[in-house]
Amino acid sequence: MSQLQLEGKTALVTGSTSGIGLGIAIALAKEGANIVMNGFGDVAGPKAEIEACNVKVVHHAADMSKASDIQDMMEFAKSQFGGVDILVNNAGIQHVASVESFPVEKWDAIIAINLTSAFHTSRLAIPYMQQKNWGRIINIASVHGLVASAQKSAYVAAKHGIVGLTKVTALENATTGVTCNAICPGWVLTPLVQKQVDAKAAALKISNEEAIKLLLGEKEPSMQFTTPEELGALAVFMCSHAANNVRGVAWNMDGGWAAQ
Ligand code: NAD
Repeated sequence: MSQLQLEGKTALVTGSTSGIGLGIAIALAKEGANIVMNGFGDVAGPKAEIEACNVKVVHHAADMSKASDIQDMMEFAKSQFGGVDILVNNAGIQHVASVESFPVEKWDAIIAINLTSAFHTSRLAIPYMQQKNWGRIINIASVHGLVASAQKSAYVAAKHGIVGLTKVTALENATTGVTCNAICPGWVLTPLVQKQVDAKAAALKISNEEAIKLLLGEKEPSMQFTTPEELGALAVFMCSHAANNVRGVAWNMDGGWAAQ
């Protein structure tokens, strides 16, 4: 039987109770990594899905908008597993409004959760990775880390920011075994996007299927959603030995969105 490539490693995936984070946590667990989950909502169901991969799974409910919660979560991970070898900064939220009517508290929350949290987790995870001379930081940005869409000022600002943070982290660790890269998905049909589909269907008085076609047609030439499983496979590659010298990239999986 072939050896699982991440056996003995610990992966912390923020926002892994749902959507992309859960897909990535399962993909890493299938390669043998123990998982520190984080996120809100139902924990038992997603936790059982990851545990089915025969790895150890723990959950910490840190609110990623709070630096002190993040510190607690990183200490918890250390107490459970000794440290974090693979850090996936995935937790994120969205709000859609024009700049002049964007609620200030929504701006602050999006910057805190989608950008600043990755600074906190990274700064706390890097010393252990440097000490072991091996580590992987994967920042889940978005195609909105590369290009913009109207009505998404805070999200686009945060995602461009996390692509910048990715490059700096990669450069600072370039001569070590610690790599940092970003993944930039196009549309993925998770609860975050279903809300946008629902809003479109309600505004235009059309069905869910018609709203999905419109949503994809506006931006994504492939007319297909990227799946959490596909993103999980890319994350596994970024953790592999073959990705040893992949550093500071913002890798889009977006059905051709950013190629236009
Ligand atoms: P989702 O809503 O399905 O999951 C978001 C996760 O983040 C959940 O586990 C949720 O509990 C957690 N979360 C939210 N706020 C949190 C907080 N304050 N503290 C801790 N956890 C919190 O969303 P998703 O679509 O899977 O999105 C995951 C990431 O992927 C986000 O960063 C998002 O910007 C990015 N992304 C999504 C898409 C897409 O089309 N769905 C595309 C590009 C990028």
